[in-house]
Amino acid sequence: MTTNRILRTEQICQLRSVERLVAGRATSDGAGVKLTRVLTQPLQQRLDPFLMLDAFGSDNPDDYIAGFPDHPHRGFETVTYMIAGHMRHRDSAGHEGFLQNGGVQWMTAGRGVIHSEIPQQEEGVMEGFQLWLNLPGRDKMIAPWYRDFAAADLPRFSTDAGVAVTVIAGASHGVAGAVSREATAPLFLDIHLPAAASFSQSLPAGHNAFVYVYRGEVRIDGTAVPSQRLAILANHAQADGVRIEAVGEAKVLLIAGRPLGEPIAQYGPFVMNTDQEIYQAVNDYREGRLAA
Ligand code: FE
Repeated sequence: MTTNRILRTEQICQLRSVERLVAGRATSDGAGVKLTRVLTQPLQQRLDPFLMLDAFGSDNPDDYIAGFPDHPHRGFETVTYMIAGHMRHRDSAGHEGFLQNGGVQWMTAGRGVIHSEIPQQEEGVMEGFQLWLNLPGRDKMIAPWYRDFAAADLPRFSTDAGVAVTVIAGASHGVAGAVSREATAPLFLDIHLPAAASFSQSLPAGHNAFVYVYRGEVRIDGTAVPSQRLAILANHAQADGVRIEAVGEAKVLLIAGRPLGEPIAQYGPFVMNTDQEIYQAVNDYREGRLAA
């Protein structure tokens, strides 16, 4: 869906700068899916409310074919954004969905989901991202929730400079995203910039924010951010937004949210506030109560 509305220009008075560049770590997960963990556990406090960002991309089926067989989640939300490829997800409650080329699956695990995420292709490119967004303590045990968005259902707009923006969550230039969340107010944009174009986005000063460049190279307040790098944006008290300038053609994710400021206790796919709640999650899973 492309909007024809007159876009609200985002005037930024003081720009956020880059605090730090992060390269991510090559790893594998599920049944051997090769991926780059861009947002790793040591960054969870700094990038609160975000817990993880994985980038996967390969044209070699051996890197992705086995997928992610049945596994549990509790206490947070997962946002899977498929750039290319075709994946099926299925869960213990009988939900089934297909995710492909530009689609998004937003899953609130809440008190518990057991699901599988399995590629539905034997060749070709599989590329995408999975973001983990924390839930506030009071919502960690809510009922699970799913929503699948085909690419055509995602709100999208273009600027005068030819920058194409998909608004997965939050709002940008007056365009409301596919999903909004009160506690964490997440902003999740996929931004495609033609060579030498720039894009501005207002950001509340207290929200943690980062940019991940997945094609080309950009500059943010004078700092070069190469491909496959995550740029953590500084939280200056006076800064009210970010400007991203493409060097050549570039594609980036811009992600921001309001920090929860709560303790984070993580054991694999369970993210709670205390160790006691983690033991509970592990026991519930072992005894078949997690997704009951
Ligand atoms: Fe999962």
